[in-house]
Amino acid sequence: MFKLTPRSWLNTLFLVGTLGLALVLVPWKLATQGLRLGEVVVFLVMYSLIGLAITVGYHRLFSHRAFRAAWPVRFLALLFGAAAFENSALAWSSDHRHHHRFVDDPERDPYPVRRGFWYAHWIWVMEATDRPMDSVGDLEQDPLIRWQHRHHFWIGASVAALPVLAVGLLTHNLLGQLILGLLLRIVATHHSTFLINSAAHWFGSQPYTDSNSARDNALLAPFTFGEGYHNYHHMWQWDYRNGPRWYQWDPAKWLIAAGAWVGLTRGLRRVPDTEIQRARVGMEARRLAAALATDALQAKTILEAARVRVDGALSAFQIRLEAWQVKKAQWRAQGPTHAESWSALRGDWKTQRVQLRRDLQAAWADWHRARQLAKRLAVA
Ligand SMILES: [Zn+2]
Ligand SMILES: [Zn+2]
Repeated sequence: MFKLTPRSWLNTLFLVGTLGLALVLVPWKLATQGLRLGEVVVFLVMYSLIGLAITVGYHRLFSHRAFRAAWPVRFLALLFGAAAFENSALAWSSDHRHHHRFVDDPERDPYPVRRGFWYAHWIWVMEATDRPMDSVGDLEQDPLIRWQHRHHFWIGASVAALPVLAVGLLTHNLLGQLILGLLLRIVATHHSTFLINSAAHWFGSQPYTDSNSARDNALLAPFTFGEGYHNYHHMWQWDYRNGPRWYQWDPAKWLIAAGAWVGLTRGLRRVPDTEIQRARVGMEARRLAAALATDALQAKTILEAARVRVDGALSAFQIRLEAWQVKKAQWRAQGPTHAESWSALRGDWKTQRVQLRRDLQAAWADWHRARQLAKRLAVA
């Protein structure tokens, strides 16, 4: 199992050492010197830039190719990402692609939660198992990524330390800045990333799929810049969003979308809303079927009626969904090639779309009503 190699020694020493030092030095510093505004600012700025580089760059851009980005974006993501001290973008992406491909497989998923919360959190990093880098051929084409892979430690050390040293010297507060802006920042960056591999596979809801351990957990989103809706993410890993709803806290998706406005990002990939609804209805139907089955003894006939209503609403919803998608695909495929009938086609489609949307919404509402009724009956 856990074999001690030079690399695993180094990783263990680094992870345990930084955490141990932070646990001793941060309270000591706060008790003896208090907290200065400049320390809070440097901590938050560095934490945010490096966290965003991991979420936007390492994760959504490099690992999942959820969008494309101009070289300055890639360069900044590689610079600040290195300062997370979570390996090079190439190695990180390789591990992460294995994680998605073999999720929950105790042997092939690099951080499988099946081997325990703490294993998925950080023991896997300490173990430092050598894995084949066989799934990142596309990333190896990028000279910037190759350059960062060769020098990631020194790039990271420079980016992490130089601003902290500069501010510390200028404000005559080198020790305070080193303890908060460098040491505590490293620990905070590490464990916020690690929580996605541990807590987001342990605590939370599974609205879209229960075929793997990933969970949606809104509590994890604020300090990971939008990661945390991990059930959604494992379902559609190539979507540039992690929280698809407008109110879900996902600054990374806002930043990527803002980048598209100014031409820095392009080719943003997203799942159609109807696909998301389809997955949610599927999960709800399965859960409800299980709940109704366990309580069926009490009011079998009423429950059966509710179940029929649920099934009816569900299939109506799905039929409409498919009709809508077929129409949409037709319109997309035919529209531009039939220039002469463009306006007629568009007018026709507009009328149909209004009707289909209305039908879809009615079926959706009906599904929800049936679900509520069946739930009440199952509890009573
Ligand atoms: Zn995961
Ligand atoms: Zn991912």
